[in-house]
Amino acid sequence: MRVAVVTVGDELLAGETVNTNAAWLGRQLAERGVTVERVTTVPDRLADIARVVNEYHAEYDAVVVTGGLGPTHDDMTIDGVAAAFGRDVIESEEALTWLEENGGYTRDDLTDGTGDVPEGARVLPNHEGVAPGCVVENCYVLPGVPGEMKRMFEEVADEFSGQPRYVATVDAAEPESALLDRLAAVQEAFPVKVGSYPGENVRVRFEGPEEDDVEAAAAWLRDRVEPADTQ
Ligand code: ATP
Ligand code: MG
Repeated sequence: MRVAVVTVGDELLAGETVNTNAAWLGRQLAERGVTVERVTTVPDRLADIARVVNEYHAEYDAVVVTGGLGPTHDDMTIDGVAAAFGRDVIESEEALTWLEENGGYTRDDLTDGTGDVPEGARVLPNHEGVAPGCVVENCYVLPGVPGEMKRMFEEVADEFSGQPRYVATVDAAEPESALLDRLAAVQEAFPVKVGSYPGENVRVRFEGPEEDDVEAAAAWLRDRVEPADTQ
């Protein structure tokens, strides 16, 4: 399964909030064998949200959108997703009833627009907050608040699956430039994906569908590099 993640928020683009939702979702999806092929951050602007969701829902098996939910003036996500699918926004009776029965709210407590979702969407209750999420075709709309987003993702996590992949890493205490020949050789010799991530040491990452191949490639390289202290 190939997935695109869309995070919505001006504050993410300005670097005022670190995009932990994208990182967390990336890990969760990868653990399920799902390939995340795009992470796109867009401003709180209806047209931008609609444009990327429209493009990605056609291109990927699923789209996960976080942020900009709810009835605040700068929350554009529901309108943007509805526009992407050519649907109206409607007030969901189901969402409002859930909030009355489970959230301890009366209808009068709730700001206008709190239960709004694109017409025909599946409503996802918000166990940690107020604004409901929803699913429109293959697009999952989740809150921006990390705790709310995680809880809601767990409700739908089983809908994301893929081929299990195995990962092994080798940390080498050598400059990346010195490793180039061995990296090329290990890539040539084993049917796995080899990534090289320089930092204080160079972390070489092996990934593939067969655990034996991944372990064999890692062992091959481990025998041929200066090990870093971390190992
Ligand atoms: P609410 O319903 O409470 O308005 P929301 O779904 O509209 O929530 P936002 O208004 O976009 O979410 O953001 C709520 C909070 O969550 C903000 O503090 C925001 O910075 C934070 N947040 C939003 N997106 C992310 C993200 N991708 N990673 C980390 N924090 C985020
Ligand atoms: Mg908001």
